[in-house]
Amino acid sequence: MSKDEIDHLKIKDLEHRNFRNDDFWKSIPGFASVTRGEFSDHMWQLKNSIRKIDQVKKLLGDRMSKEFYDDMVAGQHITPMNIRITPYVFSLIDWNDPLNCPLRKQFLPVGSQFIPDHPMHMADSLSEDEDSPVPMLTHRYPDKVLFLPLTICPVYCSYCTRSRIIGGSTESVEKETYGANQKYWDDVFEYIRQHPKIEDVVISGGDSYMLNAKQIRYIGENLLKIPHIQRIRYATKGIAIFPQKILTDDEWVGAISEVHKLGRAFGKQVVIHTHFSSHLEITKWSQMAMDRLFSEGIIVRNQAVLQEGVNNHVDDMVLLTRKLGLINIQPYYVYMHDMVPGCEHFRTTLSDGIRLEKAVRGTTAGFNTPTFVCDLPGGGGKRNVSSYEYYDKENGISVWTAPYVKPGKVFTYFDPIHKLSPEAQKRWLSENDRKIMIDEAIKKANL
Ligand code: SF4
Repeated sequence: MSKDEIDHLKIKDLEHRNFRNDDFWKSIPGFASVTRGEFSDHMWQLKNSIRKIDQVKKLLGDRMSKEFYDDMVAGQHITPMNIRITPYVFSLIDWNDPLNCPLRKQFLPVGSQFIPDHPMHMADSLSEDEDSPVPMLTHRYPDKVLFLPLTICPVYCSYCTRSRIIGGSTESVEKETYGANQKYWDDVFEYIRQHPKIEDVVISGGDSYMLNAKQIRYIGENLLKIPHIQRIRYATKGIAIFPQKILTDDEWVGAISEVHKLGRAFGKQVVIHTHFSSHLEITKWSQMAMDRLFSEGIIVRNQAVLQEGVNNHVDDMVLLTRKLGLINIQPYYVYMHDMVPGCEHFRTTLSDGIRLEKAVRGTTAGFNTPTFVCDLPGGGGKRNVSSYEYYDKENGISVWTAPYVKPGKVFTYFDPIHKLSPEAQKRWLSENDRKIMIDEAIKKANL
């Protein structure tokens, strides 16, 4: 991203107030006769979700070229994530230029996009398994835990940080998924009960959208009854990719709302964390879904992932931030992409993250401006992108500490190699040079 791009926002002042509300799905040959009523129904969306590339072909007919179909087939041999996409997002993809469409990039992998993983990548980049005292739970920060009660989602994102467990196995990854299995949930509640320092529980996975109303209540009530639990957050990408559920699944919304009311009665927070990464995901449907949650008094915050070709341009990030603010979603975090397999093409440099943060700050109110963070490989937790100890931009190596989370430990994050100079790219080819460069960067951090 050049300085020029940062200085010259191309979006119009009030562009964020435009919400798409046309019958956009009708441009998909297979959905041409679907009525607005059908498209609005969450059961219709679920039933017609796309899970195979042959379905893509069938729905698009002549609108999909043979080259693109072959590219998708090739992608299936490499991708760590299965395909699952709602008709809503599928129809929002620009099928005139699918290769470059930010929505297609996030959910429908193609073979030509993949590049080799960074040599320092890790399947469990955030060391969630290492910090797991009981199955389905990560306990890293003293007062907060991450509870993963399920491994399924309404869509599967190609950039998923938990590709090691989410969705089913693919040709390239064998996974131990557990669906929405209640087997260990009571053990998780017991662990939390036994650890009075814990105040905050993130319920993620997987996606809370795929918990049924009974499970939403079961988890919420059990957690809220623990005296030291003060905050719970249901994490779901659902609002971004499947707003119809909020609008028509009264049982699910009713369950969230009940848990929220119970929380209020106890003086505790129950909020939703969602996951819009592109402003193209936001339509009139998103606004209507948020109107419903807002009228229930439920706070929603957003966590986006910084991705090349999706949101790494300042106009796209500003539009995303402003649109979220307008529909009462607080833009909370933008993450540097984790160093997980099959995602090198999505990753950007730390410099890009820092530049983007500078550009976005000031374009809307401070409380609606996301914090750009790097979730440190190896389990250091989230750190502000500018808070590195040392950054060797030439070789793409940043050095970090997390004094409270892991005292004394040194963490490293790496820029994608294909973004470095040809000389630096060459250095990364040698295992020995790699070690020297990393050791040198850590030494220069002077810790
Ligand atoms: S919704 Fe979240 S957990 Fe599910 S595939 Fe996407 S990023 Fe992964």
